[in-house]
Amino acid sequence: MIEAGMNVARIGLAHSSLDEATDRMHGVREVASQLGQRVGILIDLPGPKPRLAATDGRIELIEGATVRLVPGTHVSTSEELAIDYPGVLRDLRVGESIGLGDGTTVIRIDAIDDQAATATVVLPGFLSGRSGVHIHGERLSLPNPTPRDLEIVDHFVKNEADMIAVSFVRTADEVRSLGTEPHPFGPLLVTKIETRAAIENLPSIIGASSAIMVARGDLGAECDLADLPHLQKRIIRECIAAGLPVITATQMLDSMVHSAMPTRAEASDVANAVFDGTSAVMLSAETAVGVDPAGVVRTMAELAERADEEFDHTGWGRRLSDSRGTAPNRSTVTSVTDAMTHASWRAVQNLGCKTLVCISGSGGTVRSMARFRPEARILGFTVDERTAQQLTLSWGVTPHLLDHDGSYEDRVNTAVRQARHAGEVRAGDLVAVLAGIDTAAHATDTLRIVRIP
Ligand code: PEP
Repeated sequence: MIEAGMNVARIGLAHSSLDEATDRMHGVREVASQLGQRVGILIDLPGPKPRLAATDGRIELIEGATVRLVPGTHVSTSEELAIDYPGVLRDLRVGESIGLGDGTTVIRIDAIDDQAATATVVLPGFLSGRSGVHIHGERLSLPNPTPRDLEIVDHFVKNEADMIAVSFVRTADEVRSLGTEPHPFGPLLVTKIETRAAIENLPSIIGASSAIMVARGDLGAECDLADLPHLQKRIIRECIAAGLPVITATQMLDSMVHSAMPTRAEASDVANAVFDGTSAVMLSAETAVGVDPAGVVRTMAELAERADEEFDHTGWGRRLSDSRGTAPNRSTVTSVTDAMTHASWRAVQNLGCKTLVCISGSGGTVRSMARFRPEARILGFTVDERTAQQLTLSWGVTPHLLDHDGSYEDRVNTAVRQARHAGEVRAGDLVAVLAGIDTAAHATDTLRIVRIP
């Protein structure tokens, strides 16, 4: 999968123990290092999602059948679904529809008493493993983050995971209450937008996060499906304006779980997400349980790269120039970085530079630059290993570890020499170099255009 184009590996904790997930993280790191590639690690927290206790193999829910829902951890059958959340009966309402698994199996609640809820299957389907039970976000009384989420965060902060995805967020406070050191000292916090409340609180959630995921699976179960494409576009637009990377996720190449080719509609979905401005596209079941994980990554990479070729880079940058700078309470550093990345975008477009070297401490300048989608490739240089790992999520960026920190001149010379050594630039190339002269101010204040000797 790494050779086929995987930049970031998401490791979900909803179905794994801490030990299994840690082994996977080390496995990915080891293979990436053998291949000489950089792959970011994104640890995905389960969040407050009730799940079915395990099924014995696959169970079928037939249309019109009656099924009981009870709190418990015993094995679920097609007559009785045991849910691992003691408060489940309190959070259900008679008459509402509940999605199970990926939301394609749906039951309607007919009656609730002290012991159980009774429901009718309205959309038939198969369930296996610990399928999710989609209770509407605003009624779910489980706390977020859950005690298990906090335990996972502690463990993976100690084990230096690069990014942590936060599930079923409703408010910015829920993101903040994870209590990790803010980026760049802690992991990049990727908030998954998958509840109606998160849509309502989008600006403050963007303010509390370092990246966003459009989690279309659960979001599609919470919202009207006809709204989903428009929500995707709005979330992407607002994240990019704020300089945050944004991931578009779920069912992108779903048919490839079973087949060697995607559908035509799926191929268009990947390209359209790129045209919407997404920084990354994500695979889930396709690589977790699909027939050809490497093949599906290769297909996704080809579709995304082809869409990038067709992308209207100039039009995008112009539109972003008009819409940026509206975020309230921006610090001087943010405003300087914003103005400098804007100026750099203009310069590389006007001069036709093929490469933009961006030297950054926290990675913030690189992310701010990437949102302009310049035609030039962005080489993101940093002295911090974890920041380099986190840049794997940013659009169009090749991260590099700067092997010598020092004065402005030292950093520029080192980055250019390393880029040349790595074959990223050649003699005669016109290259833009964006960096900060005053390291104490943490602001990126200088753009230099150099001809490679
Ligand atoms: C989603 O709901 O789209 C999603 C990405 O969440 P998960 O795959 O973690 O259930």
